Amino acid sequence: MTSPAARYLLRFDDLCPTMSRSGWDRFEPLLVEYGIRPILAVVPDNRDPELVHDVADFDFWNRMRQWERAGAVIALHGYRHLCQSSGKALLPLHRFTEFAGVDEGTQRLWIEEGLAILRGHGLHPRLFVAPRHGFDKATLRALRGAEIGTISDGLTHRPFVRNGVTWIPQQLWRPAEQRDGLWTICLHSNSTPNEEVLLLRDFLRAQAPQFISVPDALSSHMSPSISWIERVRGVHAVWRIRAGRWIKKVTRH
Ligand SMILES: [Zn+2]
Repeated sequence: MTSPAARYLLRFDDLCPTMSRSGWDRFEPLLVEYGIRPILAVVPDNRDPELVHDVADFDFWNRMRQWERAGAVIALHGYRHLCQSSGKALLPLHRFTEFAGVDEGTQRLWIEEGLAILRGHGLHPRLFVAPRHGFDKATLRALRGAEIGTISDGLTHRPFVRNGVTWIPQQLWRPAEQRDGLWTICLHSNSTPNEEVLLLRDFLRAQAPQFISVPDALSSHMSPSISWIERVRGVHAVWRIRAGRWIKKVTRH
C-alpha cells in the first residue's frame, strides 16, 4: 500500500563529460515525464578511468545547466574521483576513498578548485556528495569554509545537522517503498542494469507525487537533532550494508 508519508529524492552519481551517454539517456525521459528534480552529483575534474565510458561530450555542461534551470540541484561529487586514501571516514562503508584522511589543507584546496570548475561552467553547486561516502570532520570544516553547508549522506530517516553541516540522508541504491521519512535513492547511470531502470519507471509511475526536491526536503523534513534511536539505526545500517557486501563477495565464488 502506498504511504502518504514517505518522501523520496533521486540522486545520480558520477556525472562527468566521459560518462556513458547511452546510460544517462535511459533516465532523462523518465525525469521529464514525471517532473523529477534530482540531485546531480558532478565530478568537476574526473581522473578516474572507471568513469570513462565515452569520448568527452561537448554538450555535457550545457545539459547540466539545462537540468539545473529545470530544478535539479547540482552537487560537487569530490574533485577527481580518485579514491586512494585509506583514512577513516565518518561513514565507514569503503576502505579507500578520495577525501577521508587527506590533510585538511589539501581537502580545502580540492573543494575550492572543484567548486570553481563547476561555477566556471555556469553551475551553482549547493551540496557535497563524497565519492564512496568518504569524508571526515576535516571535510566538513572545509565545506563550511567554502559555504557549502549541506551534504547528501547518512543513514537516518530525515535530514539533521551535525558538525555544523546539514546531512540529507541517502539510504537506498534502488527504488524500494518505505513507510515514512525521507529517502534518497542513489543511482549510477553508467552501470544501472536495464531491469533497474524499468523498476524505477514502475516506481515513478506509482509514486511520482512523493518525490520532492532538495529545497522541499530542507524546508519540511528537517529533524532538529538526531535522536539516539536514529544513531543506533545508523550504526545498524552501516553493518547491514557491509554484511550484505561480504555475503555477495562470498557467494560469488
Ligand atoms: Zn562516485
